[in-house]
This record gives sequence, C-alpha cells and structure tokens, in this order.
Amino acid sequence: MATTHRIVIIGGGAGGLELATRLGDTLGKSSRAQITLVDRCPTHVWKPLLHEVAAGSLDTSAHQIEYAAQAHWHHFEFSQGELVGLDRNAKTLRLAPVVDADSGDEILPLRDLAYDTLVLALGSQTNFFGVPGAQENAIPLDTLEQAEKLRRRLLQTCIRKGKAATSTARQGVHVAIIGGGATGVELSAELRRMEKVFRQFGLHSPNQGRDISIILLEAGPRLLPALSLRVATATTNLLRKLGIQVSVGDPVTNVGEADVRTQSGRLLPADITIWAAGIKAPELLANLDGIAVNRINQVKVTRSLQSESDENVFALGDCASCTWKGDRFVPPRAQAAHQQAAFLAKTLRARIEGNPLPAFKYTDHGSLVSLGGASAVGSLMGGIIGGSILVEGLVARIMYASLYRKHIATVAGMRRMLLDCLVHGLRRVGMPRVKLH
Ligand SMILES: Cc1cc2nc3c(=O)[nH]c(=O)nc-3n(C[C@H](O)[C@H](O)[C@H](O)COP(=O)(O)OP(=O)(O)OC[C@H]3O[C@@H](n4cnc5c(N)ncnc54)[C@H](O)[C@@H]3O)c2cc1C
Repeated sequence: MATTHRIVIIGGGAGGLELATRLGDTLGKSSRAQITLVDRCPTHVWKPLLHEVAAGSLDTSAHQIEYAAQAHWHHFEFSQGELVGLDRNAKTLRLAPVVDADSGDEILPLRDLAYDTLVLALGSQTNFFGVPGAQENAIPLDTLEQAEKLRRRLLQTCIRKGKAATSTARQGVHVAIIGGGATGVELSAELRRMEKVFRQFGLHSPNQGRDISIILLEAGPRLLPALSLRVATATTNLLRKLGIQVSVGDPVTNVGEADVRTQSGRLLPADITIWAAGIKAPELLANLDGIAVNRINQVKVTRSLQSESDENVFALGDCASCTWKGDRFVPPRAQAAHQQAAFLAKTLRARIEGNPLPAFKYTDHGSLVSLGGASAVGSLMGGIIGGSILVEGLVARIMYASLYRKHIATVAGMRRMLLDCLVHGLRRVGMPRVKLH
C-alpha cells in the first residue's frame, strides 16, 4: 500500500513542467510526496517559441529540455506516454503505448498509473471552427513537429518556385496566415525576416521586390483582439511597413489546396496556408470520466483550480477554464500557466498538510508581441505603472526575450539560463540567421 501522497501531472508544457519542478524541489526532495510528470513527448520546448521554429530562426536542439534529466535533477519521476483514459473511482489513469515512429516497434506498453492528486496540464490545440478545407489544407502551429513541417514546406516552396530553370517560370511565393492574434502577427513578421536571409544566400530570388507575399487575415474588425486598440494600431502600422498585407473584418470561408476564399467573395492565392485562428482544449477532456468541461473542452475549475466535478483533480493553463474578474476568464497564455503553476505548487503543499486551499488570483502583467529581429510591441500593466503603457522597438523586444529567459531560469536555474544565453550568442557568430536546410 502506498504511504506517500502521489501527485501525477499530465503535460510538461509551460505550466506542467514548472509545477513538477517546483513540487520536486520541495515535496519530492523531502519525500513528503511522490511527483510524477507524464508527457507524450520526451523533451520540452516552450510553446511561444514555435513561430520562430517555423521561420527557421531558432535551433530547436539548443532549446529543448529533456524531461528525464530534468526529473533526475529535480526529484520527480518522468513517464513518457499519452493520457487516453481516467477512472476517477479507482484513481487511476491510462497511458497509451509508446511506439517508435519509424519502425512501429512498441517501446512502452499500455499502462495504468495510480494517483492521489491529479493535475491536468494538457495545453490546447488549434480550433478550425469547422471551416471547410481548413483541417486538410492549412498547417496549424501546436507542436514542434508541425512547426518543423511548416519550416520545411516554406523552404522547399521558395527553392522550387524561386530557382525554376527559366526566369519566366520563377515566381514569388504566396503565404496566407489566418488569425490576427499574437501567433499570426508574430509569425508573419518572422517570415519577412526569413525571406531576407533566403535572398541573401540565393535560395529564392525570382524578381526584384517582394519574393514572398504575406497576407494576414483576421475575421474580426482589428488585429490582436485580446490586446488594446493602441497596441493593435501600432502593430498594424508596423506590419504594413514590413510589406505584410493586413485584412480585417472578412472571415475565411474555405481553404483550398492553393487558395483561400473569404466571406466577401475574394479568392486569394496561397501556396501555403497557416491556421492560427483560435484554440480549444484536447477533445479527450470532453470524455474523461465525466469531468465537467466548457464548449471548447476546457476543464471547469473552481478558484482553487480544482475540477468542479472532482476535488482530487486539478487543471491549469490552456486546458483550464478559470473565472477572472467576475464574468471574464483567465486567458490562454504562458504567463497565466506560469502563475497557476506557482499557485498550485503552494496549494498542493497545503492540501497534503491538511490546510485550507487558497483562491487563485490572476494578475495581467500586459502582453508583448514580437515583430521579428530587434522589434516588438505591447503594453505593460501593473501597480507601479497604475494602468497600461505602450512599449515598442528594442526595449519591447528585450522584454519579450526576457519572458523565455525567465521560464528557463524558473525550471532550470539561473546558472543554466546564463550559460544558454552565452552559448546561443556564440553559436550565432558566423552562422546564417535562419536554418537553410
Ligand atoms: C506560436 C505561439 C506563440 C505564443 N506566444 C505567446 C506569448 O508570446 N506569450 C504568451 O503568454 N503566450 C503565448 N502563447 C501561448 C502559450 O504558448 C500557451 O498559453 C502556454 O504554452 C500554455 O501552457 P500549458 O502548460 O497550458 O500548455 P502547453 O505549454 O501547450 O503544454 C501542454 C503539454 O501537454 C502535453 N500533452 C498534450 N496532450 C497530452 C496527452 N494526452 N498526454 C500527455 N501529454 C500531453 C504536450 O506535449 C505539452 O508538452 C503562444 C502560443 C503559440 C502556439
């Protein structure tokens, strides 16, 4: 019979990895609880970096954290596998077998794992909203594999069209990005940077002028609907300066193999279509032994982040629906996942010690949107400022980059973060700014 309290965290993303690390360093180290982190992948990549992976400006191998090593150093266990089922009465969960992608050989069998406290930190995935052709023809940006696939498609299309045998056959490349939120905006700016490097190294040089035409399509009346109008206006102006077409208020109604149709009847050419128009939590959560979810599959949680259906099950990050300021909900952002992980690290300690559970309070510190290279834009909020201020340019970019550095410092320590900065800085010397293969 188990005597130590068993905490199982499913999902080692922005929130889950931080929680496992914090709990491991406290409860795990002192053997007051047994902490297990489960993820379907063997390594962690901070999701907000994915648009840089897609544009080839980030070397993924240098930004991955291996769960097994992290677990060893921070006193928790790691188990690779995908959550496929839950039995709340028996307090067990089921993990699918782990299979080698190339050979199909089974590496780990179907397994059941027992828990006393379960934390769901499964993140989110793209919501295609049932738009015809979107799922089949558009590339989403949820995982490292999808970001790598997009990078390869962009590179190959640029080479194929820009290096055709005759000059008349050489053409530019049309990219349509659907969704004018932070992901769509950041990706469009990053692609413009990628184009410059391709041209510099002769990988794509069909004509003078723009080789890659980028259109950003937002269904609503303006870009960045979750941010202030000031930030949205500044962003729109900066994108237009970068030669990116911005289309608002004309929803996409169909995605074809090589085009995109909008509600107003426009048919836009698109060699590559990227879908960045919304999220939902994994479908699995809607069928997880009666756990209550909202219409986008997020687990409905109380202020202590406990499932409304089961006090032994908690949820955090993008897969949790947590009220904030009355009728609003905590947004699906890395800063929310981070705050909830820090909160749960304390809450689960209180639970084990039999103390009352506190209530989670989300603090919006503002939002920053990267516009590639040395530029970013956003708003900062907080008690010291007493409202929100607009930040732009290099200052905003440094602040944006510091969010990732902060994540690494939290999960891997200050020393590793500083060492990473140094190594990445050195690696850039004498290397192309984006990956060319
Ligand atoms: C391109 C892009 C840019 C972004 N930029 C920003 C930004 O600038 N600022 C910001 O605040 N937010 C940004 N976000 C949003 C941010 O990435 C998310 O809000 C954040 O990662 C959510 O953290 P999480 O822990 O809930 O989930 P995630 O970080 O998504 O982690 C979920 C984990 O669960 C694992 N998992 C999923 N299903 C299963 C399963 N069935 N079994 C086992 N494991 C599973 C996954 O492998 C993953 O490791 C961006 C997102 C994208 C896609």
